[in-house]
Amino acid sequence: MKKMLLLILCCSVLLLCACAASGAPAKAPVTSDTLYVRAVPDLPEDFILGVDASSVIAEEQSGVRYHDFAGEERDVFAILAENGVTHIRVRVWNHPYDRDGNGYGGGNCDIEKAAEIGKRAAAAGLRLIVDFHYSDFWADPGKQMVPLAWKDMGIEQKTEAVYDFTRESLGRLREAGADVAMVQIGNETNGALCGEKTWFNIQVLMQAGAKAVRERCPGALVALHFANPESGAYADYAKKLAYYGVDYDVFASSYYPYWHGTLENLRTVLGEVAETYSKKVMVMETSYAYTPEDTDFNGNTIGEGSPVTKNYPYTVQGQANSVRDVIETVAHTPNGIGVCYWEGAWITVGGSSREENAALWEKYGSGWASRFAAGYDPDDAGRYYGGCAVDNQALFDAQGRPLESLKLFALVRQGNELPPVPDAIEDSFLTADVNGTVTLPETVNAVMTDDSREAVPVTWETDAAALAGMTAGGPARHEIRGEAGGLPASCTVEVVAHNYLTNPGFEQGDLSGWRVEDLGGADELFVEDKANDSLDGRWHMHFWSAKPDSVEFTLEQDVTGLRPGAYRFAVSAMGGDAGEQEIYAYAKVDGETAGTAPMAISSYGNWDTGCVEGIALGEGQTLTVGVYVKCAGAGAWGKLDGAALHSAG
Ligand code: CA
Repeated sequence: MKKMLLLILCCSVLLLCACAASGAPAKAPVTSDTLYVRAVPDLPEDFILGVDASSVIAEEQSGVRYHDFAGEERDVFAILAENGVTHIRVRVWNHPYDRDGNGYGGGNCDIEKAAEIGKRAAAAGLRLIVDFHYSDFWADPGKQMVPLAWKDMGIEQKTEAVYDFTRESLGRLREAGADVAMVQIGNETNGALCGEKTWFNIQVLMQAGAKAVRERCPGALVALHFANPESGAYADYAKKLAYYGVDYDVFASSYYPYWHGTLENLRTVLGEVAETYSKKVMVMETSYAYTPEDTDFNGNTIGEGSPVTKNYPYTVQGQANSVRDVIETVAHTPNGIGVCYWEGAWITVGGSSREENAALWEKYGSGWASRFAAGYDPDDAGRYYGGCAVDNQALFDAQGRPLESLKLFALVRQGNELPPVPDAIEDSFLTADVNGTVTLPETVNAVMTDDSREAVPVTWETDAAALAGMTAGGPARHEIRGEAGGLPASCTVEVVAHNYLTNPGFEQGDLSGWRVEDLGGADELFVEDKANDSLDGRWHMHFWSAKPDSVEFTLEQDVTGLRPGAYRFAVSAMGGDAGEQEIYAYAKVDGETAGTAPMAISSYGNWDTGCVEGIALGEGQTLTVGVYVKCAGAGAWGKLDGAALHSAG
């Protein structure tokens, strides 16, 4: 054991194998000619840089082979270890098989798989983080299903079952030679665990698991694992755990940057738990896409155009920068001890068709779920079973070759600050009026390898005639491709209907184009600069009056020179304390009412839109559009914004 610890220490400190001690050949230090890495200052030497490798056995059974940077087929754990990874995480399901022994998929991660992974990881000098789900299949904030064999148990019996299962499983891991560093009691247990949904029962089960860890692996840390740091719930979870006196060491979080809020928030919420309760904290799962492309014929959770936060490009460098920033955040959080990358070796099983892959997913469990899981989890796995949804977030490509980003785990310690070069081009967006012209940008922002931005000239694959055709074609969305800094660029052009109003959203900062008639003597009636209270932009029309029955006014605009035809007018309002109210949008043609649309104000932020349709306008006629507002209540207030007059054919 001591020799093993020494080996790990030397590997992580010197990035050289302690090889004289083990007799293995000397390992070269990790270097890269292309990956930019800014060193994380003051990164503790014992900081955990983990990779979850739960599906590796099922992958290998399906024919996947892993290669090192020299192109040699090697043990995946050795490849991870020589690139700076210190820990392997593995999930454990109780019994992920149907009655006939067919695996549910997702790696068929039972304790035997975990034991083999633990053994091979230890042989590579890697310690183990054990992730007990206490379920027969995936447990996460969406589901925490009880194992089938425990489904009829009351809480007392289940508590005993958790204790026994944990104890026996850890015994099996130790017997296999795994170097257990940490044990998680539950996976992403946001208010549920093992079918229990009350905190009283959840904490009883956590206590039982923790007790088994203390007895069986006294040197290991006990971790509890939650998700959604952006939810604001962590302080409450930690408070409950303290109230019940749950025995644990590490408060761990998932952090997927697409969904889980800012790094600043992550640091804040973990830091609060760390300082209030003197707990260690870490990120137990993170990952980032190195490409938008799918490689296994099973759609991915993240791809081009996914409606998620995209703070880094989907490139190998973007992936490395994302993980590097998570490492820095945790390292600089009080009691921050580590970061684990999720399923870094889960790649396509490599067939050339979905059918070919599906046969392997079903046989070896290398997809996220097989059809055999339907009996246990009919609503999710039973419907959507298939392959890997995160193959584009692995640290290996589709052929099992390591991505340059794998070197991050070694390089993050000393840095690799190469001269920055363009890595990707930020997408451009512009809006064009059907009556206007499309002017494409001449420069676009390159995302540099060091995550800075630099303007670079761009060439678009289009011409003046094509651009004119876009506006002539009416409202539609177009995508134009281009090239900048040797990289592909894209500009989305949204052609929108022409708004015939002057100053339609008051963004000129005054009443330009508009006419106000104050019929009730309101205390306040003016154009206001306050983005939070505007429907769009910064400005809106504001009204307020202390006395009852003093809000009554019209706000209107004349529009001349319009072509004969049909028009549509819309305007929006929000407000409150209106009392009895009469509010409507209206249109007049040559002074005669041509249509009205009722509106209502209710409370802050509830915008109501009035839309006058089918306004018929003849040759030379003047169109007047506006809004009438009358509120009887004392202190009635409101906002008007977003007026639009469009042609309706
Ligand atoms: Ca996929």
